[in-house]
Amino acid sequence: MSRVALVTGGTRGIGAAIAVALSAAGYRVAANYAGNEEKARAFGEETGIPVFKWDVSSYQACSQGIDQVEGEIGPVEVLVNNAGITRDAMFHKMTPEQWNEVIATNLSGLFNMTHRVWNGMRERSFGRIVNISSINGQKGQMGQVNYSAAKAGDLGFTKALAQEGAARNITVNAICPGYIATEMVRAIPEKVLNEKIIPQIPVGRLGEPEEIARCVVFLASDDAGFITGSTLAANGGQYFQ
Ligand code: NDP
Repeated sequence: MSRVALVTGGTRGIGAAIAVALSAAGYRVAANYAGNEEKARAFGEETGIPVFKWDVSSYQACSQGIDQVEGEIGPVEVLVNNAGITRDAMFHKMTPEQWNEVIATNLSGLFNMTHRVWNGMRERSFGRIVNISSINGQKGQMGQVNYSAAKAGDLGFTKALAQEGAARNITVNAICPGYIATEMVRAIPEKVLNEKIIPQIPVGRLGEPEEIARCVVFLASDDAGFITGSTLAANGGQYFQ
């Protein structure tokens, strides 16, 4: 029987590409989303991948959502923590709400999701956790103190948990995408994108969601069993750490 993979924020953008690539690689995939029903329905109809709605910033919602996925599809063996949001503002204008929302989704979401699947992975002595962090968690980005802090936190989470999972054949890795052509990046004004962001990317273009998806498929595979606690940068040469 093929393995079960759950992708948070899996109905559009990078997450949708990840869900499709894992499905093509033979996994039984479930895609979670937060509330964009139109996109989720269209994605589900187009791909045949079942979609499940819950908010990763709620521990209780994650627990109930994963119960549903496991009941309908099977125990989660591959978890891709991809769901993420931005609430950008310069720090002096950043509200506590902007800070809290980003930390709750982009950092606490990893705890909420992973905690619920962890014991099952330990019992079965197999698991793959892939966390989608960001180049801006590595280098910091003005206007994104909240996002950079959460995404840097994702890397600490990955490194610490990898040490706990290693003896049980559970790998925990992070991918740090650079700027990828999704709605999140298209929300950046075109002038900023063309004059400030793309000139900083040595390959001279935005990345494609499928380029991140292929990294996830590799990290989820048996071939990647010796890789854990690592951070894979996929950023067109923009930043090395
Ligand atoms: P999009 O905004 O295109 O999609 C975000 C996805 O996450 C949607 O499916 C959305 O659901 C879901 N989501 C958001 N909040 C929640 C929540 N609280 N609970 C459940 N699902 C949620 O994002 P991208 O594809 O651009 O980004 C995906 C990940 O990659 C994020 O973690 C992002 O930070 C990271 N990243 C993106 C980069 C980029 O250049 N695009 C660069 C570096 C990192 P719904 O459709 O219902 O709203």
